[in-house]
Amino acid sequence: MPTYIVLLGPPGVGKGTQAKILAETASLPHISSGDLFRENIKNETELGKLAQSYMNKGELVPDDVTIGMIRARLSQPDCVNGALLDGFPRTSVQADALEKLLAEFGGSVNHVPYITAAEPVLVERLGGRWTCRANGHVFHEKHNPPKQAGACDLDGSELYQRDDDKSETVHRRIQVYFGQTAPLIEYYRQRGLLTEINGAQAIEKVTADLLAVIKK
Ligand code: AMP
Repeated sequence: MPTYIVLLGPPGVGKGTQAKILAETASLPHISSGDLFRENIKNETELGKLAQSYMNKGELVPDDVTIGMIRARLSQPDCVNGALLDGFPRTSVQADALEKLLAEFGGSVNHVPYITAAEPVLVERLGGRWTCRANGHVFHEKHNPPKQAGACDLDGSELYQRDDDKSETVHRRIQVYFGQTAPLIEYYRQRGLLTEINGAQAIEKVTADLLAVIKK
């Protein structure tokens, strides 16, 4: 049976950082809807053009487009044993679609670690975040600085600030999260899949808590 993990939490809580570590440890592909959109933007695809108009405003990309993209990704051969989903689902419609989709693959969502942190922590983390161009590795100017300013420790590529990490958009993204994504906490809690994890701890401690959840 494939294993599917949905990593839930507000923007800036450290989902991306943790997802990369966790996926490697669990030998599952890391599927980030945000990264897939950014890849499409970089490659100037039609999907990328459409997604960018929503992302720049901090709004969600429409469900049908997002679900179609995730369906295609989960159908790739590297997902036969499951996947770690980061940033998807983000609405109840997407969560329902995911349930149906995974049933087609003979699986279902197995774990939903929900990483939490207070809003001021999120704002501070997003504001100081730097992302690597080549692979989306993330750093924080204060909490997780790169060894050499402006360059990724892991692949040497340039670090940049995402357009949607600028302050006006950050506030809208957090608002959108509480309005549209937070209801998924109850959705997964009712299914007995949710485990809450304190995201305000050190990166290593959050990783340890996450590993304990997925080994259950
Ligand atoms: P992220 O990298 O997860 O912070 O996502 C960046 C942006 O991509 C979000 O603010 C949305 O505009 C868009 N996005 C990512 N995932 C989804 C999703 N599941 N549904 C709709 N929009 C999404």
